[in-house]
Amino acid sequence: MDVKIGVLALQGDVSEHIDAFSAALRSRGCGKASSVVEVRRPADLAGCAALAIPGGESTTISRLIDKNGLYEPIRTFPGGIFATCAGMVLMATDVADPRVHTLGLMDMTVDRNAFGRQRESFEADIPVAGLPDGGPFHAIFIRAPVVTAAGSGVHVLATLDQGIVAAEKGRYLALAFHPELGGDLRLHERFLQNLGI
Ligand code: GLN
Repeated sequence: MDVKIGVLALQGDVSEHIDAFSAALRSRGCGKASSVVEVRRPADLAGCAALAIPGGESTTISRLIDKNGLYEPIRTFPGGIFATCAGMVLMATDVADPRVHTLGLMDMTVDRNAFGRQRESFEADIPVAGLPDGGPFHAIFIRAPVVTAAGSGVHVLATLDQGIVAAEKGRYLALAFHPELGGDLRLHERFLQNLGI
């Protein structure tokens, strides 16, 4: 099967997401004509089975989503969404920062930069529900958000003391950490598998 994945390429760690999804498509045995493309405008979403929303600065990404006319096209995008860090902030319904125009695709409240100064960035081996071999995931957190309340249909996959750091709702996966940086592709593979890829 040939699969096209889009990576929202407005700001943030876009190339790392492209590399990780390219590797995950190979490991899922997708066809040689599979591709990972940059998404900057609505037409770029055409034919994509999924969209990655990268880490970066959620206020900036939000502004550029609006500026590029991508807000409704992403809200109505029929494929999967793989959202990391700033992406998790954007997926929420509630964020206490008026500069972020959230997509509201997952019924959850998100607290930006939830780990404070001392632990702005850290790494931890954390259990994540539903991974194929059940082993912990080496999670890299960079000025990460947490989910402080999850509503209907949002399934919690991982939690730290500060709050929820991995959640999914149907075809949407939101992560406070950065699986595109660590070389462990299990969350990408699980996401693709859930989409029937
Ligand atoms: N703190 C950033 C924000 O809220 C997210 C950081 C990241 O994506 N690594 O936008």
